[in-house]
Amino acid sequence: MTTIKDVVQLLPAPSPHWVGDGFPVRTVFSAHAQDPVAISPFLLLDYAGPHSFAPDPSGRPRGVDEHPHRGFETVTIVYQGELEHRDSAGTSGKVGPGDVQWMTAARGLVHEEKHSAEFTRNGGTLEMVQLWVNLPAHQKMAEPRYQDISAGAIRSTTLPGEAGRVRVIAGTLAGVHGPARTVTPMNLWDVQLHPTARANLPVAEGHNTIVLLLRGGAHVGGTAMHPHQCALLNRCGDGVDLRAGDQGAALLLLSGEPIDEPVAAQGPFVMNTTDELRQAIADYQSGHMGRLAAGSR
Ligand code: MN
Repeated sequence: MTTIKDVVQLLPAPSPHWVGDGFPVRTVFSAHAQDPVAISPFLLLDYAGPHSFAPDPSGRPRGVDEHPHRGFETVTIVYQGELEHRDSAGTSGKVGPGDVQWMTAARGLVHEEKHSAEFTRNGGTLEMVQLWVNLPAHQKMAEPRYQDISAGAIRSTTLPGEAGRVRVIAGTLAGVHGPARTVTPMNLWDVQLHPTARANLPVAEGHNTIVLLLRGGAHVGGTAMHPHQCALLNRCGDGVDLRAGDQGAALLLLSGEPIDEPVAAQGPFVMNTTDELRQAIADYQSGHMGRLAAGSR
């Protein structure tokens, strides 16, 4: 018998702001605005778009110039459009529709995130999510690493009663395992529900669980949601009840075992103590996190 997780808090739909000149994002939740304990192991979620960019014959990609990260992971899910990234270790790549980049910054790197050259020239619609996932203390100074997860590597499961489909990026649903390797136990599910469909998804007791409505309309645990709203659910219970409105619904479900450690966050650094934050800033300023090679694009 499933016990439905209640909605503890429904966050208002945020206004958009620009990150660099390429990403019109809504910060759906963050460890600054919310109780970090209630959203752990997650730290922040930015949802960009859908936003239309005109073709730009100059070919100068929009985006975010070089900046550091330390102490956590950035997970970039692209729905529409194409991004290009490069970092201080010489790693670079593209993330296109359906792809997920799971970057474990850990002890630190410096990178830039831009529209791809082709997307810049041709223009088009950009829609993406960037999620920040915290690392436990013993992994914060590990070697940085990437998981480039292509759309084809992410399996879907069909929900009972033709209710819709779920792309399992991380975690497990109905025997389908997500390709992402995570440091602590978590689920990251891309949920598509048909109009008026209902689904009950099993999510472990004790997980912090967050449901974001990207498009359409939905009720979560009986609570009505509007697009860009996000519901924080009770750790108690072992099921998430979803019901789509007349237009269907596209949702992102995140759940994870909370990391029971202090959070000291400042900008792109998320550590456990203020001393570690000071060290992160000093290491960045002295070049210990690396620098981007100029003009190597
Ligand atoms: Mn970044």
